[in-house]
Amino acid sequence: MLPEFVRTLAQKIFEVPVAGMYGSEEMNGIALQCPECGLYHVLEDNVNVEVLRDGEVYPTGKGEAIITNLCNHVMPLIRYNQADIITLLDGDAAHCKLYPEGHSISKIEGRVLDVVRVEDNVEFNSFMLIEVIDKFNAFNNSAIKEYKYCFHSRAKKLELTVVLDKTKNPFNSLAAAKEAIIDTFKSIARPRLVKMIEFDVNFVDSIMRDEGKFRVCKVEE
Ligand SMILES: [Zn+2]
Repeated sequence: MLPEFVRTLAQKIFEVPVAGMYGSEEMNGIALQCPECGLYHVLEDNVNVEVLRDGEVYPTGKGEAIITNLCNHVMPLIRYNQADIITLLDGDAAHCKLYPEGHSISKIEGRVLDVVRVEDNVEFNSFMLIEVIDKFNAFNNSAIKEYKYCFHSRAKKLELTVVLDKTKNPFNSLAAAKEAIIDTFKSIARPRLVKMIEFDVNFVDSIMRDEGKFRVCKVEE
């Protein structure tokens, strides 16, 4: 999966069309991005994709990606929960002339594990957080060099810690950079989320990485 910003940047630099691919270690290719419509068309010769929502499996709609591999005869995985959140469309809803019959994925929102719950029915995911950084960097000379998010669940406070690249930073003051980051966050996060949580930005010279798997957003009490 390529973040949209990386895809368009790669296209610009290499001057070739770039398409995203959605796949996994267990399933191999799951879907490919279409040059015509931009949706991810499911590789239906390789996998059957369904979605899990409220404890039931459905053929379309939003939910956790439930995938059955059709080609792995040695170790078949049947209705395997890929733990990504996707929005799945049938051919009628996808409306693509290159792929009129099969299923398509209109949105891949990252892993269930990376979803941060604020309250019942209010949550955000790491893709949204990455998008904030990508969009800010696209308009501000890639000034953010490193970052990490931390959500303090009791205080409902999302804290972004940032290392700015001093050679690229277009801002006169940290206050101006902070304001621009907050504005970017507000332009991307849903209004309900913006209202519900406090968003704050700190600037540091370097970020210590935690041991183990990198998480975009750490959650603390
Ligand atoms: Zn298409």
